[in-house]
Amino acid sequence: MKERGGQSTRLARLRRLMRERRISALLVTQREHVRYLSGFTGSSGWVLVTPARCVLVTDFRYQLQAKREAPATSLVIQKKDIITTVRETARTLGLRSLCFDEASLTADRINAFRKQGLGMKDVKDPLTDLRQRKDAEELGAIRLAVKRAETSFLELRPHIRPGVTERELALRLEWLMREKGAKRAAFDIIVASGGNGAMPHASVSNRRLRSGDLVTIDFGAEAKGYYCDITRTVCAGKPSARQREIHGLVLRAQQQAIERVAPGVACADADKAARDIIAAAGHGGEFGHATGHGIGLMVHEAPSLSALSKATLAPGMVVTVEPGVYIPGWGGVRIEDMVLVTERGRKLLTSLPRGL
Ligand code: ZN
Ligand code: ZN
Repeated sequence: MKERGGQSTRLARLRRLMRERRISALLVTQREHVRYLSGFTGSSGWVLVTPARCVLVTDFRYQLQAKREAPATSLVIQKKDIITTVRETARTLGLRSLCFDEASLTADRINAFRKQGLGMKDVKDPLTDLRQRKDAEELGAIRLAVKRAETSFLELRPHIRPGVTERELALRLEWLMREKGAKRAAFDIIVASGGNGAMPHASVSNRRLRSGDLVTIDFGAEAKGYYCDITRTVCAGKPSARQREIHGLVLRAQQQAIERVAPGVACADADKAARDIIAAAGHGGEFGHATGHGIGLMVHEAPSLSALSKATLAPGMVVTVEPGVYIPGWGGVRIEDMVLVTERGRKLLTSLPRGL
């Protein structure tokens, strides 16, 4: 059965994983984890999870917001510092030690807990694993983010012409996405024209587009805390034979990788599907980044579609597929779409035309 989502389902899934990993009490400190688990969106708040209790610790500024956003979670407002409050809460719950994810708790805070007499044990973060597989509520938010980004891009399309600057295009696109309800752009929008396209993460410049330039636009919108991430490379004018050739190559590589995405497939194999095609055409050295990444409450999250990844695709995962070819002195092409892993295969979440 498909899980609908919601905080109680997520908490149940987490507790199941905690039992499997013999975690009796988990301190959740990463902001996106806190939001995923409790609904609380404030900038300062930790969650303490045991088999029976789920407690959100935050400060006075967020008292009302926490009550509204996280009604199912017990609330503790810190009176002193957060370390002391968490330690006192742990004592009340009869806990002598806590598990934590070392990636999101600094060493000095871990030491501060230990000085206060609380045992601290680092564990493989169960929430990062859980968050890879999106529930229906999360997919709804991601689809909304995609819709905001794609309709904005279609409105931007007529403005992509000689004379306009990269910066003007980036600003207009951000304005369009925020006008449609996105709280923010998912990241600094990339508009890389002409030779700038050879830099995969070029920053936007005041360069004016010239007729026949390729323009790579990498962008994403936000919706309900979730993000999307899309790239299109288009031509300001009539594309040359060489531009069509490189674009066609990247498109074929992307299509192969998308078709490789399915439950049970190694992420490294999905990466290889794109990489092999680009290498066979003699451009292997010009594709130096991973083929894709998971996306959700963060733009880049697990799993990674890279040669080094040990992860396996599973239903509910949402990944980008974004091969590219970057040629110094000439420019570059990247095409990026978002794919949902389903029970039987895959579903494309993005639908913008991919042509030049
Ligand atoms: Zn991107
Ligand atoms: Zn991406």
